[in-house]
Amino acid sequence: MRVSQLLIPTLRETPADAEVISHQLMVRAGFIRKAAAGVYNFLPLAWRVVKKIEQIVREEMDRQGGQEIMMPIIQPAELWQESGRWDVYGPELFRLKDRHGRDFCLGPTHEEIITDLVRGEVSSYKQLPLLLYQIQNKYRDERRPRFGLMRGREFIMKDLYSFDRDEQGLDVSYNKMYAAYTNIFSRCGLVFRPVEADSGAIGGNDTHEFMVLAESGEATVVYCPAEPCGYAANSERAISPPDLPAGREEPAPVQEVSTPGSRTVEQVTAALKVGPDRIIKTILYETEKGMAAALVRGDREVNEIKLQKALDVLRLEIAGPEAVTKATGAPVGFAGPVGLKGMTVVVDTEVEAISNAVCGANKNDTHLINVNPGRDFSWHKCTDIRLVRQGFPCPNCSTPMEEARGIEVGQVFKLGTKYSKVLNAVYLDEKGISHPIVMGCYGIGVTRTIAAAIEQNYDQNGIIWPLAIAPFHVIVIPVSNKDELQMETAERIYRTLSEDGVEVLIDDRNERPGVKFKDADLVGYPLRITVGSKTLAEGKVELRHRRSGLVELLREDELTGRVRDIISAC
Ligand code: ATP
Ligand code: MG
Repeated sequence: MRVSQLLIPTLRETPADAEVISHQLMVRAGFIRKAAAGVYNFLPLAWRVVKKIEQIVREEMDRQGGQEIMMPIIQPAELWQESGRWDVYGPELFRLKDRHGRDFCLGPTHEEIITDLVRGEVSSYKQLPLLLYQIQNKYRDERRPRFGLMRGREFIMKDLYSFDRDEQGLDVSYNKMYAAYTNIFSRCGLVFRPVEADSGAIGGNDTHEFMVLAESGEATVVYCPAEPCGYAANSERAISPPDLPAGREEPAPVQEVSTPGSRTVEQVTAALKVGPDRIIKTILYETEKGMAAALVRGDREVNEIKLQKALDVLRLEIAGPEAVTKATGAPVGFAGPVGLKGMTVVVDTEVEAISNAVCGANKNDTHLINVNPGRDFSWHKCTDIRLVRQGFPCPNCSTPMEEARGIEVGQVFKLGTKYSKVLNAVYLDEKGISHPIVMGCYGIGVTRTIAAAIEQNYDQNGIIWPLAIAPFHVIVIPVSNKDELQMETAERIYRTLSEDGVEVLIDDRNERPGVKFKDADLVGYPLRITVGSKTLAEGKVELRHRRSGLVELLREDELTGRVRDIISAC
C-alpha cells in the first residue's frame, strides 16, 4: 500500500489530554482518534494491529479446542436479574431501554448470556467439556476512562467460557487457557508475568492475571525474586506471614496521654517515643451496611480489597472528616477502637498480637497507651487486612519480596458453579443424575494489549512494534520523488516484497526525506528500506532496523531474502 493513499494522520504535537506514552504515541502516529471519553476510532494502522492480535488470540484459542461464536452486545435485563448482578454491578453497567420500556444493558462481560445459551443447548455429560469464545466490543462506564486504549469505556475483549463436568475438568480447561495466554503474550513479543489475583465482584476461586510489566501500569505486582520460588501476586491479593511478637507483655493499665497536633503515625511515634509496630492505626470507612473501622499496625496500610471481603460489602469508601468526627467525637487523626460504637470493627491479625499498644483516644489531641486488644476493646472479625509491600517476606520461602508496576492484559478465572447454580445450567451424568456445570471464564483485553505493547516498546522517536503485531513489517522510502532511478528502484522493491507476501508500504508522498524518516520512526515499522542516490551509486540500498538502529547495505537481489529471513524468524 501507498502512504499517499492511506489515512495516517501523524502529528508533531503531543496531545494535551494524553497522560501516558502509549496514548500520546497512538494519537501522534495517527492510530486512533477520540470520539468521546474512553471511546475511540481505530484508523487503518491501529485496525491492522487489532486484527493481528485477534488472529494470534484466535489461533491459540482454537489450538486448545476453543470454538468461536458471537454473542449479542445488547443483553436483556432479565438474565442479569436472574443472576443477581443487575443490582450489584452498579454504575459501570451501561443500561438502556427499548421502545417498549424494557430494560437492557450493553455487555461488560457475558457470563449470563452464555450460561443461558448453554443451559438451553447442553443437557448431557457427552457434550462436555465445551470451550466457547468470542472477540467483541465490551462496554463499561468506567469511573475514570483514561490512558487511551488502556482504560476505555468501549474496548475489544476476547472472552472464553469453559464448561466441565467437575473440578478436575475445570482444572484441565484452566491449565489450557493459562498455557494459551502464555503463548499469546509471548507471541505478541511482550514481557509479562502471570500473578495470583483477587476474584473481585465476579466471584469464584482460583484466578491469575497476566501482567505486562511497565511503569505506567495501574496495578502493583509483588513477587519473590528467589528462584525457583516465583511467588507473584497482585498486591490486592498478596499475602505475607504476619510479623508476630514472641510472646505477650504483662498488660499495664490504660492511660490517656496528651499528644497535641500528633495525627500521623510519624508524629505519634516521635511524640511518644514508641515504634510504629506498637501503634494501632484506626481507619474509618463508609459502606452500604453502615460504618466500619479497620485496625492495622502503624507501619502497615489497609488492603481495601481484603477489607471489602472481610466486611462482605460492595461499597467501601474512606469516611470524610465530618463522618469521622460524628462517629468518634474527635477530629481525624485521633480515632481509636476503645469505646468505639455503632460500627463493624475488623482487626488485622498483627494488631491482635500487640501488647500495651498506642491508639487514638477518640478525643482531640489525645492518645491512649497500654491498650490491650481483647481486654480494652473487642472486634467483629480478626483477619489479614494488610497491604503487602516490597520487602515483606515471601509466604512460601520468606525471601524479601519485590514490587513492580503491571498492566493487566488478561485474566483467567475458575468460576465453579456460581453462575450455573443460579441460572440452572445442569447436565445429566451416565446414571441420569443432574449436576450443575462447572465453569471458568477467561478474558484478554485486545485493545489494552496494544497500549501495553507500546508502553514496553518505544523510544524518543516513537513506537517500536514487535514484529508479530506491527501494522506493516517494512516501509520503503525513496529519498527524492523527483529522482527517477530512486523511484523506479523503490517501486520495484515494493512490488517484489508485496508479491513475496511481505506487509510493505511505500512512502510515495512528495515530502522532504526528513519528514518521511520522522514519520516512519514515529509509526514504528520494524524495517525501513531507504533508496537514496548515495547508496544507489554503489548499487545498494539501506535496510534499517527500527529497534536496534542497525543499518545493512544490501544489493537489491539480496534484499528480499534478507527481509524474508528477518520476518520468518519472529
Ligand atoms: P480492571 O481491573 O483493569 O478494571 P477487570 O479486571 O475489571 O479490569 P476483566 O473483567 O478481568 O477486567 O476483563 C478482562 C480483560 O479485559 C482485562 O484483563 C483487561 O485486559 C481488559 N479490560 C478490562 N477493562 C478494560 C477497559 N476499561 N479498557 C480496556 N480493556 C479493559
Ligand atoms: Mg480482571
